[in-house]
Amino acid sequence: MNANYPDRKILAHLPTPLEKLERLSKHLGGPDIYMKRDDQTGLATGGNKTRKLEFLVADAIAQGCDHLITTGAPQSNHCRQTAAAAAHCGLGCSLVLRGEPQSQMQGNLLLNKLLGAHLYWTGDRNRQEVMAEVANEQRAMGHKPYTIPLGGSNVMGATSYVLAMKELTEQLQAASINIDFIVFASSSGGTQAGLVLGAELYGFRGQILGISVDHPAEELQMQVSALATATATHLGVGTVSIANRVEVNDDYLGDGYAMVSETEREAIQMVAQLEGILLDPVYTGRAMGGLIDLIRWGAFTRGQSVLFWHTGGAAALPAFVDKLLP
Ligand SMILES: *Cc1c(COP(=O)(O)O)cnc(C)c1O
Repeated sequence: MNANYPDRKILAHLPTPLEKLERLSKHLGGPDIYMKRDDQTGLATGGNKTRKLEFLVADAIAQGCDHLITTGAPQSNHCRQTAAAAAHCGLGCSLVLRGEPQSQMQGNLLLNKLLGAHLYWTGDRNRQEVMAEVANEQRAMGHKPYTIPLGGSNVMGATSYVLAMKELTEQLQAASINIDFIVFASSSGGTQAGLVLGAELYGFRGQILGISVDHPAEELQMQVSALATATATHLGVGTVSIANRVEVNDDYLGDGYAMVSETEREAIQMVAQLEGILLDPVYTGRAMGGLIDLIRWGAFTRGQSVLFWHTGGAAALPAFVDKLLP
């Protein structure tokens, strides 16, 4: 079945590299570990939101919009990539960040400022409400705002990960690599929704396991399934079934979102020191910590292959210095 893809605005360096992590695989003594380097998508330090923004920004421009509005946590990688995409395309950008203004402008907050984004803080208010207010302010100034949801996770965003799965299957085929599991950090669900739909469309046979960063497994599973189904309809492949494809592990939520523990610290240091690759404290550090734990528990056999999909985020590292070097 042929999917009917909308236009994209080129922002990312694609295809991203596929690498084998020889030293990490040997150190853990379990399955062969590969990495898909979406931390190298190239937009102001990159990450998975760049792929999503290719479709979101193309849609914004097609609608004649001149200002992007989105929302996230103070160290949101999605907000930083949105600010960079806006700058690159000559659009304005307003970011609605959760909580109170932070005194230390570190990590992604610093980058948002350098990229020229306007920052708003929700305090204890609802983010939708604040985004609607900011959109009205922009309209009053004669602009046409385009609002992007949390994590860029709508059908436009998820579409990019359908194509990312196509990209991966082509790389695997060219290199004659078989992958049994894909493991990655899952939060607003757009990445996972795209990957499961892409797996069905492009014949990826392995399992796709999202390590939840902040939601109970059942909740995230439902969200991903609903988004994958909506995306299939959007792409004109509504009869494709993703049933039983959506797997979520919520064993590594720890003390909650962005609460760094030994799980993340060990994973970040292990991958940095064995491979020279930087993970991030909120998403990929947690997901890799989960993968390391699963390997230690014997969840995979020696002959199997696991692909860790690196979704980016290392730009947040400087904001977590106290938690990373306690
Ligand atoms: C946003 C983000 C994720 C989660 O992706 P979703 O599509 O929101 O599930 C994972 N890793 C990093 C570094 C992110 O910024």
